[in-house]
Amino acid sequence: MSTLAVNDLHVSVDTEAGPKEILKGVDLTINSGEVHAIMGPNGSGKSTLAYSVAGHPKYHVTSGTVTLDGEDILAMSVDERARAGLFLGMQYPVEVPGVSVSNFLRTAKTAIDGEAPKLRHWVKAVNDTLDRVNLDKAFAQRSVNEGFSGGEKKRHEIAQLELLNPRFAILDELDSGLDIDALRIASDGVNRFTAQGDRGVLLITHYTRILNYIKPDHVHVFVDGRIAEQGGAELATQLEAEGYDKYLRAARA
Ligand code: ADP
Ligand code: MG
Ligand code: MG
Repeated sequence: MSTLAVNDLHVSVDTEAGPKEILKGVDLTINSGEVHAIMGPNGSGKSTLAYSVAGHPKYHVTSGTVTLDGEDILAMSVDERARAGLFLGMQYPVEVPGVSVSNFLRTAKTAIDGEAPKLRHWVKAVNDTLDRVNLDKAFAQRSVNEGFSGGEKKRHEIAQLELLNPRFAILDELDSGLDIDALRIASDGVNRFTAQGDRGVLLITHYTRILNYIKPDHVHVFVDGRIAEQGGAELATQLEAEGYDKYLRAARA
């Protein structure tokens, strides 16, 4: 078993008016084998948490720790974090003109494994994976995310997840921009990933809909830069009925 631990994490971004604190003391422990959902309103800092753990340079950790099996993740480069077993599926996947999906995936896989995958085996793995997420194999030759629809971008993220097969996956609003069929395809991919065992997922969302497809073991309500409430899957059902209002009012008080 592996453990990803976030401890009293404070994160700021630079604004024209100076540094602004976005994360105000986040505590979160995810063991491999567990699915955690973070639910919260827009602007509460969910993506900031995802990017901070993944190592985006825009986010400055001012205090607190993030460790993977006791190792200091924050001291690692983005590449080292990926090699340590972390994966980030972004809310807004970036376009990479001139880099084919096929080359992108192979480069990422090589960086993580320390050696290039055997070509014949790899081409089949890529084709099979694209097929599972219902992307035509012609996508392998297209530039990464360029001209992809919202749903195609998210299904490509899930193809990456399956091919890179990390220990921990942080999936930021996987459900945004997905119609019901694409949501099911993406969710099936996440469920295949966790079914291997010993994998951890942090699923960030503000809708409960995706939790009908991916069953969380733990649900965290995220408001104003910190976790305001924790519970099991029943907490998502309660949020569906009541919304975030109660937590927003408490945060303002
Ligand atoms: P969420 O993913 O929960 O919607 P984000 O992490 O994207 O929230 O953003 C959290 C807050 O941080 C928002 O209020 C956003 O406007 C603010 N923020 C993020 N980046 C900057 C920035 N560069 N300058 C000012 N505010 C920022
Ligand atoms: Mg905030
Ligand atoms: Mg976000």
